[in-house]
Amino acid sequence: MRSSLAGPRVLLRRLREVMAEPIDAQERLDNIVRLIAANVVAEVCSVYILRADGILELFATEGLNKGAVHETALNVGEGLVGLIASNARPLNLPNAQAHPSFAYRPETGEEHYNSFLGVPILRAGRTLGVLVVQNKEHRTYFEDEVEALQTTAMVIAEMVAAGELEAIAQKGTTIDVIRPMHLTGVSLADGIGLGHVVLHEPRVVITNLIAEDADSEKERLDDAVLRLRQSLDRMLASGEFSQHGEHREVLEAYRMFAYDRGWVRKIEEAIRNGLTAEAAVEKVQSDTRAQMLRQTDPYLRERLHDLDDLAHRLIRELMGREHGANDSDLPKDAIIIARNMGAAELLDYDRDRIRGLVLEESGPTSHVTIVARALGIPAVGQVEDIVSLTEANDAIIVDGEVGQIFLRPASDVEQAFADKVRFRAKRQEQYRQQREMESRTKDGTNVKLQLNAGLLVDMPSMVDAGADGVGLFRTELQFMVASSIPRMSEQQELYSKVLDMAGDKPVTFRSLDIGGDKVLPYLRFAQEENPAMGWRAIRFGLDRPGMLRTQIRAMLHAGAGRKLRIMFPMVANTSEYRRARELVEKELAHLKQHGHEVPAELKLGVMIEVPALLYQLEEIFSEVDFASVGSNDLFQFFYAADRGNNRVAERFDSLAPAFLRALKSIVEVGNRLDKPVTLCGELAGHPLSAMALLAIGYRRLSMSPASIGPVKTMLLQLDLEKLRPEFSTHLQLCNGLDDVRSFLKSFAADHNIPV
Ligand code: PEP
Ligand code: MG
Repeated sequence: MRSSLAGPRVLLRRLREVMAEPIDAQERLDNIVRLIAANVVAEVCSVYILRADGILELFATEGLNKGAVHETALNVGEGLVGLIASNARPLNLPNAQAHPSFAYRPETGEEHYNSFLGVPILRAGRTLGVLVVQNKEHRTYFEDEVEALQTTAMVIAEMVAAGELEAIAQKGTTIDVIRPMHLTGVSLADGIGLGHVVLHEPRVVITNLIAEDADSEKERLDDAVLRLRQSLDRMLASGEFSQHGEHREVLEAYRMFAYDRGWVRKIEEAIRNGLTAEAAVEKVQSDTRAQMLRQTDPYLRERLHDLDDLAHRLIRELMGREHGANDSDLPKDAIIIARNMGAAELLDYDRDRIRGLVLEESGPTSHVTIVARALGIPAVGQVEDIVSLTEANDAIIVDGEVGQIFLRPASDVEQAFADKVRFRAKRQEQYRQQREMESRTKDGTNVKLQLNAGLLVDMPSMVDAGADGVGLFRTELQFMVASSIPRMSEQQELYSKVLDMAGDKPVTFRSLDIGGDKVLPYLRFAQEENPAMGWRAIRFGLDRPGMLRTQIRAMLHAGAGRKLRIMFPMVANTSEYRRARELVEKELAHLKQHGHEVPAELKLGVMIEVPALLYQLEEIFSEVDFASVGSNDLFQFFYAADRGNNRVAERFDSLAPAFLRALKSIVEVGNRLDKPVTLCGELAGHPLSAMALLAIGYRRLSMSPASIGPVKTMLLQLDLEKLRPEFSTHLQLCNGLDDVRSFLKSFAADHNIPV
């Protein structure tokens, strides 16, 4: 017999009425199952909802014994219902009891029913429950009936996600969709944030699931698909894609899917079954997602992200929404959740309202990470599936200290973190109090603590942290957050403001360090096999001097009448420094010739971050005014261990004797030739490693703003004259084993030094 299925559209229309009625959740669910049973002409219709403890509980039924409601419970994977939940796929059986997974529950009275159709209740690919219809007769349900049931399941998914069912859950149980979760990722920026989820790519809330008229929905879809395809074509043709931080390959993949007939056909089918065009896109995406999530192949999972993005774009086209963040209703304690994000996109948010950032991708050296750190936003990256696991406005805690996330935390966890936040605030207060104190070791050695900066937003931290100037100003950040090359006037304006804000404190500007991993989306570089060792920084600057000269000119203008310090990154030979200096001299002569005011004092230096310079120390120090050790790069090239590759980044210890000996040789030559040496890599910002640097002779350290307090606290307690000889003996005797850390830790413990 062909069931009447007075068309799923009729069912959906009736469902809409039920959804609008002012009744409680149980009554609404009861009405829904009754309606479905009548419409599909089934004797039974039941809804099972997934609880936080992994149990599927019967929440409503038409046809089975009512007494079983909230009593019958199955594990995921158990029985037919459990099987559907674990596979996230429909099950259509003419003889259910013959299926090996059939599990008989006497309280339900389901032994009378033979045919069985169950579909997962899905939202953003997550299974929230199972919807089932059953009939006495042996029959296979038609494809459009399966579709209709899936569509109805979507309506129920909205109810579950909206938290409506919480009120009717058994006492002491929680519905899975609001289950507290603990997720781990990689710490990107220190700090702890408590707040509420804001999805960077808002999951468009589709309020209107059910269509009035399928033909007009189909027309809307056709128009939107056309616009989507055109916009992708346009972006690919014009290179405009850089604006959203997207790469060409990703857009190519989007385009491929957008032109895929199969995808569009599935959406059209859902429209024919009564959904609005938006809801149809969402439904198809949720089905695809649920199936692809079970793929282990990383390539396919990556394509899933592309499909997700594409579906979102299409929904936005349909709803006429703009791409990107919308600040108008940002909560005061926003925790931004995204797959990934460009640095500029983060800057678009109102900083005062952001408490944290969680990304599915992004590593510790990505641009958005650098900006998050500059803004003091606690951030965690590489948190798998965080976007689909969260709903807008979920409570969430970001622990950037250790790289973990607590989603919908239980109240005791929330309390513990609130305490932790208070404790950190107290510590910050201590740091503030010691801000005005001289940064001098307990036994009287002065140490300069400076700031690593790169954007104007960093500058207030200089004063807040009590830093002694800016030891490293990464000028490439302005280029990285812009959508096209900043003009000379824009560069000059930034440098000028930085110098203004620094007042009488020194600022060391580093010339552009682009190339390598710091790609500018609007500037095409040829693909390189080893970009970190490729055409980057000063290499690029000297080969294409136009950009470098413009930058130098902007710096000279900004520094007119004041003290100016410029250094060059990735210098590998003294001759490269010489050529860079000549460029500066030429620009200076040019300015003078045209009657411009020039800096009152100009100092030029190099970054020491390529090991080759270790063997030209005498030579380079006799030419420069100062040097700064870039320990991040020096370390990666010293050990041939990619600084961005988690697999090898931890393999070697940055306090290994071999590396410390190299660092020591640099500062020794600098001191001998009376040239100031700063160390501006991450190493300077950890109290323990800063202790080692002081012991081997460094007196100038430059670090991120958050590190200044802890490092200063350490050095105020440090008896350097006591540490020095002991450390030196230890380093000499050390047989190459990485036991420097334990030596320093026990020295710190013995002498009450907080590290
Ligand atoms: C370094 O390499 O240590 C450094 C400070 O520069 P960057 O991290 O910008 O490469
Ligand atoms: Mg470097």
